[in-house]
Amino acid sequence: MATAIYPGSFDPVTRGHLDIIKRAAKVNDRLIVAVLINSAKHPLFTVEERVAMLQECCKGIPNVTVESFDGLTVEFAKKRHATVMVRGLRAVTDFENEIQLAQTNHALMPGVETMFLATSIKWSYLSSTIVKEAARYGSDISKFVTPNVEQAVREKYAALQAKDEL
Ligand code: ADP
Repeated sequence: MATAIYPGSFDPVTRGHLDIIKRAAKVNDRLIVAVLINSAKHPLFTVEERVAMLQECCKGIPNVTVESFDGLTVEFAKKRHATVMVRGLRAVTDFENEIQLAQTNHALMPGVETMFLATSIKWSYLSSTIVKEAARYGSDISKFVTPNVEQAVREKYAALQAKDEL
């Protein structure tokens, strides 16, 4: 049984991420979507909220599970006996960072291979940041995210606005 992990911030999960998840789940026996608890970034959603949104989005894919992790991705991969790390590539701009990350991870743990999936053209412009920017200024984000995520983003901004934190 080959286990793959798909690490990321997923703040929040977009249809671009879901496209990668579905395709990666087809070519690996088991896929763990791993939500990074990253204290350096200031996420909009808590890690629990991000995990819950992903679980809802992935509930129809039997070989996909969602977990959170802290620390080095390769360490988490080792703990789960994963041999593949999945990353999505949108554009040349992603490439530089991603190749550096893959090479570092390979140096740290040669037993884990990074698998790059090219984004579907349809989602090549899409990022969690764009979704948040659009929602913040009141745009319709239903094209970019699933209905549960759309609702969560709307509620989050409404709550922040009510607290005058926007
Ligand atoms: P990170 O903070 O690790 O970049 P993200 O949640 O932004 O976390 O992204 C996780 C992974 O998903 C990365 O490999 C990223 O390149 C990929 N990704 C993000 N958006 C898309 C998209 N629209 N299509 C394909 N892959 C994507």
